[in-house]
Amino acid sequence: METRKIGRTNIEVPVLGLGGIPLMQVSVEEGAKVIDAAFDKGITFIDTARGYGTEPTFGEVLKRRRDKDGIIVATKSPAKTADKMREELETSLKELQVNMIDIYQCHAVNNDDAYAQVMGPDGALKALQKARDEGLIRFIGLTSHRYNILVEGMKTDEFDTIMVQHSFIDYEAETKIFPIANERNIGILLMKAMAGGVIDQPGPALRYVMQFPISVIPVGMYKVEEVEQNIAVMEGDLTLTDEDTAYIEQTKKENEGEFCRRCGYCMPCPEKITISMVMSFESVYKRLGWKDNFLQWAERAAECKECGECEPKCPYELPIREMLPKRVELIRDVAQKEGKLP
Ligand code: SF4
Ligand code: SF4
Repeated sequence: METRKIGRTNIEVPVLGLGGIPLMQVSVEEGAKVIDAAFDKGITFIDTARGYGTEPTFGEVLKRRRDKDGIIVATKSPAKTADKMREELETSLKELQVNMIDIYQCHAVNNDDAYAQVMGPDGALKALQKARDEGLIRFIGLTSHRYNILVEGMKTDEFDTIMVQHSFIDYEAETKIFPIANERNIGILLMKAMAGGVIDQPGPALRYVMQFPISVIPVGMYKVEEVEQNIAVMEGDLTLTDEDTAYIEQTKKENEGEFCRRCGYCMPCPEKITISMVMSFESVYKRLGWKDNFLQWAERAAECKECGECEPKCPYELPIREMLPKRVELIRDVAQKEGKLP
């Protein structure tokens, strides 16, 4: 598999990494088997987060293999203050069972207030800089769904990596982020290469993103077969085929004007509807399986008063009022099939 450098860090890893979200669906033992399989097959980069609850699963394997296999460890926390970030970092070190984390990221800095706090005098960044001086971490990263925040962060030169969403459905990073990151030699960790589960074929998804100057693609996997499948793609010819192009066009068409990025800008809703979760139900369900919260969210969404407050806040101009009732119906159908309706 091709290896790439992660920007200025000089860390070089096989470009396919292992992401930590879907592992939350399986037990620590089952998850550890998947991680072991990934390392056996040459993956050496992992990325997880405090919020995923999967640091202990990685820890089970890292305690045996981190040094032996030269595994590069990235994780992240949404803490905004220095004190909270320090506490989170110490928990990560404990749960991951390591004494140093290669890349610690400020996670989901998705609005201007959060960014100002993270960068402020008692902000989370300060704690990470101190931890870097102490040797507890090596590099600092920033993750966000907002391009303007990533751009601001990159301009400060405080971040060695950024994590940004990118796929053939959601490709604005190509013009808004990649050129700046590359010019400043900032590592690009890619998120949502499969658009959060909307793209169901890893081949075209991975071959598409591999055309761009990114550093590493941590793909969430929770089955050994997925690891094998994705590695096979990455070890094969990475040129887009005619079938790939046809699939890409078809998938783009199917999702045109209906693809919810789960960015949450449309919220809060006066009726307390968790719009992003209902709108993106299909991909979350595909990726994480059934969650009992789905029904509660659907019941609340059924109370939409069609006030329209949310729509102008959606940067993708999704017709939320039109889409919500269809999603509610879909959630009820799936609940019925899953035997979850009373
Ligand atoms: S239109 Fe519905 S979902 Fe949107 S803000 Fe109003 S009540 Fe909430
Ligand atoms: S509806 Fe729009 S604003 Fe709301 S989460 Fe989805 S993409 Fe973001």
